[in-house]
Amino acid sequence: MANPIKILFLSAEVATFAKTGGLGDVGGSLPKTLRALGHDVRVVMPAYQNIEQGLASGRWGLQAMPGGLSVPLGIGRLPAGVFETTLPGSDVPIYFIAEQSLFNRPEIYGYRDDAYRFSFYSRAALDLTVALDWRPDLVHAHDWHTAPALTWLATTGQGVEHFQGLASLFTIHNLAHQGRTPWEIFNYLGLWTNALVEEGYGAVNFMARGIYHATLVNTVSPTYAREIMTRDGGADLDGLLRFRHYDVHGIVNGLDYDVWNPATDERLAQTFTVDELDRRLANKHALQEWAGLPQSDAPMVGMVTRLDWQKGLDITGHVIHRLMNNFAGEGQFVVLGSGAPEYESMLARLAHYHSGKMAAILSYEPNLAPLIYGGADIFVMPSRFEPCGLGQLIAMHYGCVPVVRATGGLADTVQDMVTGFTFDDYSAEAFWRALERALYIYNVDQDQESWRALQRNGMTANLSWERSALGYQQLYEWALARAGGH
Ligand code: ADP
Repeated sequence: MANPIKILFLSAEVATFAKTGGLGDVGGSLPKTLRALGHDVRVVMPAYQNIEQGLASGRWGLQAMPGGLSVPLGIGRLPAGVFETTLPGSDVPIYFIAEQSLFNRPEIYGYRDDAYRFSFYSRAALDLTVALDWRPDLVHAHDWHTAPALTWLATTGQGVEHFQGLASLFTIHNLAHQGRTPWEIFNYLGLWTNALVEEGYGAVNFMARGIYHATLVNTVSPTYAREIMTRDGGADLDGLLRFRHYDVHGIVNGLDYDVWNPATDERLAQTFTVDELDRRLANKHALQEWAGLPQSDAPMVGMVTRLDWQKGLDITGHVIHRLMNNFAGEGQFVVLGSGAPEYESMLARLAHYHSGKMAAILSYEPNLAPLIYGGADIFVMPSRFEPCGLGQLIAMHYGCVPVVRATGGLADTVQDMVTGFTFDDYSAEAFWRALERALYIYNVDQDQESWRALQRNGMTANLSWERSALGYQQLYEWALARAGGH
């Protein structure tokens, strides 16, 4: 086993406590897996409203740390509470920074003072390690909300013995949210630094800061790591990322097998394993019944998605049209999604027009999604860009063969003709050709042996968090070597 590493893990989202997307999944799963590898990992996040309520009602075993913190800021010291418990199903300590005026609000993000909220949290999280008399070897910071910690460590923190020479890893989950804010934030944090080219006069860009200050940087797939270094994919930070290109890596997220397991998933009509693929048919029938579609053996194409520009819905409309008009034989289409009104109305109209063959469920239904993954034959994910993507991983694990655009994490996880079907160009034509290839193989061989092989390859692929955690362990070791510690 590798040497145990002391990791301070900073994330604004940690499932099950707070989650809006993939960041929350990573925050909930990766620390547990690192712990299982023998590392001393401790997680810190803000105490949002539900955490304050959880403390009051005795939920999650939350305890308030006596004395709390007196957080040293540029403007003086401010008090903060600290709540603690362990990540469910593990002995990983998780600490919550409590400051009612900043975090006791209904939402996680979206406030005008977000930069101050997360700067306070970041600085308090570092100070907590002093209060605990625990010096981490490395700080693993996620997305812009935690970048103030890296800026402070690289500047004022270098003068504080406890923090001198700490290694750090900055993980980019969503390059679109960069945390731009006026320069005064650095007075608040009590640090002095030079402006970066990306920041412009009088402005701070915390995403850029994270990339600039961290010992190493990674994102959630190798292909996305390359894409964000291009002008098209770089959200105006591609120059900075290219400047650091030797230090920018990609690690695909894992799938939480405790949550996603077709052999035990109670949300399915019928559980199944890789050796019992015939049992999937009961899920297809249950889904057809749920969606008001006739029971048919024709291939069923499924989609579960946020209805967002990112997800490729404009090229999907045309492909649905061809599928519904039997351009590749009979087929059914079920989509579960919610989001932008223009896509909702497009899908509702198509479903109305093709009723009896297509259903559109335009809401967020976590209990229905597994029936699509476990019942549909083909799963489509034609994303314009996709940092990692979870849908295709769940689909593969549930024997639903994915047809995906080869971008970001989709390119890294779906192998054409081995575990699914991929296409390159962002166009309805390319999407249709890939779907047509899938439908051809589904229809052509009567005993379905080739299809079964695709399903089995997907179901037995190693999509585990263990594999991802070994990648992170490697990056930690490189970062420690670089920082000269350990
Ligand atoms: P993103 O995080 O960009 O939305 P991912 O593929 O990484 O995309 O994750 C999407 C997750 O959200 C999957 O677990 C998917 O099943 C789930 N999901 C998306 N839309 C819905 C919906 N309308 N109902 C239920 N689950 C959904």
